[in-house]
Amino acid sequence: MGNNIIDGKKVAGILRQQVKEDVQEWVSRGNRPPKLQAILIGNDPASKTYVNAKTRACEEVGIESESVIFPDTMSIKELKEAIGKYNSDDSIDGILLQLPLPGHLHPSQVIETIDHRKDVDGFHPMNVGRLTVGQPTFRSCTPAGILELFRYYSVMTKGKRAVVVGASNIVGSPMAIMLSRENESGKATTTLCHKYTRDLTQHTIQADILVVAVGSPKLITGQMVKEGVVVIDVGINRVADSTAEKGYRLVGDCDFDSVAEKASLITPVPGGVGPMTVAMLMKNTLLAAKRSIYPQD
Ligand code: NAP
Repeated sequence: MGNNIIDGKKVAGILRQQVKEDVQEWVSRGNRPPKLQAILIGNDPASKTYVNAKTRACEEVGIESESVIFPDTMSIKELKEAIGKYNSDDSIDGILLQLPLPGHLHPSQVIETIDHRKDVDGFHPMNVGRLTVGQPTFRSCTPAGILELFRYYSVMTKGKRAVVVGASNIVGSPMAIMLSRENESGKATTTLCHKYTRDLTQHTIQADILVVAVGSPKLITGQMVKEGVVVIDVGINRVADSTAEKGYRLVGDCDFDSVAEKASLITPVPGGVGPMTVAMLMKNTLLAAKRSIYPQD
């Protein structure tokens, strides 16, 4: 790897090892192992891969996990009933609802039915609200994992100009909140760009720290960034490649070569942000088991 390439696999491995030791310590004190319940709806192959990666990571760190696959014809009523069952099951600490959902199921409607104390994805309005006002909370795993990368690579955010491209509830928006709010890895002057942002380059070119989470290959090119920028490419896109075994390869949202030429640090795709997301899910599940976020309940 070039010396400006962030090794998300390595950092995630260190984090998972820490979680593993913490789980062992928790269990050695007479507690049962933490447990994650994964919910997958439909047969989307990418979603299946993500859930498998998450349950494999659970196994590695000593967290129990179960996954259930519901048909994509499932009604909202049936799904809410299933979630209600997991909410009241004391042996389950964390509930993971793999997104995206089939079109007839609205994510915000479903997410609200998950007990916020088991919302290890950090998507429930209670947890997002607590993040916004700076209270302890389950933080969305992808942006929280990016802050861990900043910590590991000593990327200072305070007073820097951060630009986040993509404003989804699960990545871009919480990332912008974290970058602008939190003290240790925040206090950056933060701009959040979205589909209606006019002249994207006018914003990206000013970024000291650029986080891109859109799902659009080559959206960001070398001409759109300044020398020395730290680039976090969250995007995961499948592009056709007849030379690849599966007929496609994964790329991010940045034109990697031209952006990497100017960046002081950059995440690759794959091997950058993805493994961090999984590691942070492990961390959140342990926090849920320990009742660390909502101790009074
Ligand atoms: P999403 O829900 O589709 O959100 C995409 C966001 O990008 C929206 O806010 C959208 O704007 C904005 N957008 C669309 N076109 C744009 C443009 N031309 N310029 C600026 N903004 C634009 O996607 P997501 O769930 O956040 O995921 C984004 C990407 O990250 C996907 O490729 C996904 O696979 C990947 N991802 C990776 C990880 C990981 O662990 N590595 C985790 C999650 C997601 P509007 O709000 O105006 O529609």
